[in-house]
Formats: sequence, structure tokens, C-alpha cells
Amino acid sequence: MEFQLTEEQTLIRDSAISMVERDIQPILDAHPVDQSLPKAAMRQLYDITTRQGLAAPRIPTSEGGGGMKMLDYGLIYEQLPAWFAVSVMAHEVTASRIYAEANPEQRERFMPDLFSGRKIAGTATSEPGAGSDPRGLTTRMDVDGDTAIVNGRKIWISNGSVADIIAVTCIDGVDDKGRNTLKRIVVEPAVSNVEIREIETVGLQQGHLSEAVFEDCEVPADNVLSSGGDAAKMLTVTWNGNRPLVGLAAAGLTQRAFDLAVEYSGVREQFGKPIAGHQLVQRNLADIETAIMSSRLLCYYALDMMDQGQRENGAAAMAKRYATKACENAISLAMQVHGGMGITREAGLERLWRDVRMLSVPDGTDDILTLIQGREITGLAAFR
Ligand SMILES: Cc1cc2nc3c(=O)[nH]c(=O)nc-3n(C[C@H](O)[C@H](O)[C@H](O)COP(=O)(O)OP(=O)(O)OC[C@H]3O[C@@H](n4cnc5c(N)ncnc54)[C@H](O)[C@@H]3O)c2cc1C
Repeated sequence: MEFQLTEEQTLIRDSAISMVERDIQPILDAHPVDQSLPKAAMRQLYDITTRQGLAAPRIPTSEGGGGMKMLDYGLIYEQLPAWFAVSVMAHEVTASRIYAEANPEQRERFMPDLFSGRKIAGTATSEPGAGSDPRGLTTRMDVDGDTAIVNGRKIWISNGSVADIIAVTCIDGVDDKGRNTLKRIVVEPAVSNVEIREIETVGLQQGHLSEAVFEDCEVPADNVLSSGGDAAKMLTVTWNGNRPLVGLAAAGLTQRAFDLAVEYSGVREQFGKPIAGHQLVQRNLADIETAIMSSRLLCYYALDMMDQGQRENGAAAMAKRYATKACENAISLAMQVHGGMGITREAGLERLWRDVRMLSVPDGTDDILTLIQGREITGLAAFR
């Protein structure tokens, strides 16, 4: 067992920190903190992260991807601003799903633009009536000759309004047990009639979370992805990888809150000394640091298990649920250390708090992750 980062991992983490400080943050600072970034700025960001292999980190280099270990990806991911981390994942996981489900001709057509970050991607699975349970999806695709017709409404699409490519999960029939069968189709909003709008949310506000309406939306039938088998299974496999990454995005936000709390408590004086010298303030700092460290360890562990090729359903679920909740509480403590300053916009903590609040929903809500872990422990599924 080895708890220290290797020299190479330290280098990976440190270059991610430099990339964010030097290249990414100036672009974010040039835009309002509470509005979705324009597409031109997103393009600039994707140019930067693609150079680091983040457009397709889970795809081998021999296939044109970044070929990263999941743990190495996690070390970089933790350093990204949380809203952009969500965007990067939406893009790269969509690229991975398309890659897995595409036939050779489709790979040739779609992958170069996705691997180079020239086109930004997102996945549309959730619907107003179906979130945690994808079996409730109602968006349909019907193939008629050379054209597939998509009808339905999708919601919470990360990158939706800036995406050049949206992989839309649709029902395309029924299996012999009477259950809907799912397939994905690649929709390009520039050429198909899909209506997309931005949804206002409490956090991750420089990002894009969108709703899309498909009304007799015509898409070339050649865009139906059907080579990789089961679209629902592919969702599960990729969700497992996503979960510890989202946990690390939460740890990254909490690290920033911790740094602010340590700094503030060292200069703010009450009762004749810096508040950092009061025992209960030290307890808050100790609790925040513990949340960061324990979240990191669980997430690194789950990612490392994946790198070892082991089954990771329970560990991935545990890591995300624990990290997002522990970090939400910890950021609240950092606000408390700041007293009245903590609730001002100026201090910057309220934004971290609102951002982390968003993270306990995607890729499995806390309740669903609890049930996944419970199923691993007991062998019994308690979802229905
Ligand atoms: C930041 C963000 C990014 C997202 N990105 C995407 C994206 O790119 N593409 C996409 O398709 N979707 C995306 N989503 C949507 C996300 O996957 C869904 O919001 C999530 O699956 C939950 O679905 P829901 O919101 O419909 O909640 P519901 O499924 O309706 O759940 C509501 C509540 O009921 C609980 N619940 C549900 N079933 C059970 C059960 N069996 N037992 C106990 N409790 C239960 C849930 O835990 C939750 O608290 C994103 C969401 C967010 C917040």
C-alpha cells in the first residue's frame, strides 16, 4: 500500500494547477461569474484542455484519445474549476460512449472532431419524467429510410446549449420481456431542428445546463449508434467512472474554501487574538481538512481500483456520495469561520457552496448511490 503520489503523479497534478492558473482562470475572470460562458470562450478552454489529453482521457492513445489512467485523470480533474470539470466530463464521456457504440464509418466521421475538441459534446438522457430511473424514458426515435425521427424532451444536458454534438438516448423498441430498448443517436443541432434553452441553477453558473425539445427532429439514420450493444449498460459503465471524479471536483472546491478559512482565521482578531487561536475555530479547520483528505482518499481508491480492472460499483458510489456531502458540510464550516463575511459574495465562499450543492445530483443522487452500495453489500436491489 502506497499513500504518496509518485513523482510522475505529482508532476501531473502540479501541471494541472499551473494550467488552471495560467491559462484557464484568466478566461473565466474575463466573464461574469454568474452567467454561462459564450461559445467562443468555451472553444478557447477546450483548446487548452485538449492539449492535455482531456478531450478523451479514457480512450487509448493508439485510437486517438488521451490514454490516461483514471487516477491520473482524477488528479487533473480535481484542479479544474468545478463547472468546467462538469463540462469536460460531459464532453469526454460522450466521446467515450460514441466511440464504444459507433461502427467504423461513424468513428471516422465523429471521433476526429471530438478527440481534437474542435466540436463540443454532451449526452441527453434525463427527461422531465425520467431521471434516476432511465427505464422511464419516453423520447422515441423511429427510423424511416435514410432518416431517423426523434420526438421527446430532454433536460439537464451538460454543455447542451454550446454542444455541436448531442448523443441522445432514445427508446427504439421493446424487448421480449416488454421492456423498452434504448439506443443513442448523434444529433447535430446545427443541422437538425432541435430547440435548446438554458436552465438557471443555483451553482456552476458559468457552465451550461440545458433543456432540449425534439419535435419530429430529422436526423440522418446513419447517426444511429448501434454497434456497441446495450446503451443502458454503457451508461452504467461510464457513470461508475464519473462518480469519483465528481467527488474530486467537490474536494477541489473544498480545498479552496479551506485555504480561504485558514488565511482569514489567521488575520481576523476577536477577544484579543487571531480567531485561529480559538479552540472551536481550530476544530472547524480540522473538520474541513478531514473532509478534503477523506474525500480524496475514497475517490483516489475508487479510481485506482478501476485502473486495476476491478469491479468498482460500491466504491465509486461510496466515494461520490461521501465526498459531495462531506464537502458541502465543510464549505459551510468555512463560511462559519468567516462569520458575517462568509455569507457575502465578496468572500467567494457562497459560490463554492452553491457549486458543491449541484454535485450531489448528477451521475447518481445520494439516495441512488446509497442503494447501489447497499446492493453491493447485501446482494439485494432496493430500488423498486
Ligand atoms: C449539474 C448536473 C449535470 C447534469 N448533467 C446531465 C447530463 O449531461 N445529461 C443528462 O442526461 N442528465 C444530466 N443531469 C441530470 C441528472 O442525471 C439527474 O438530475 C439525476 O439522474 C436525478 O434525476 P431527477 O433530477 O429526475 O431526480 P429524480 O430521479 O426524480 O429523484 C428525485 C428524488 O427522489 C430520490 N429517488 C429517486 N428514486 C429513488 C429510489 N428508488 N429510492 C430512494 N430515493 C429515490 C432521488 O434521490 C431524489 O432525491 C445533470 C444534473 C445536474 C444537477
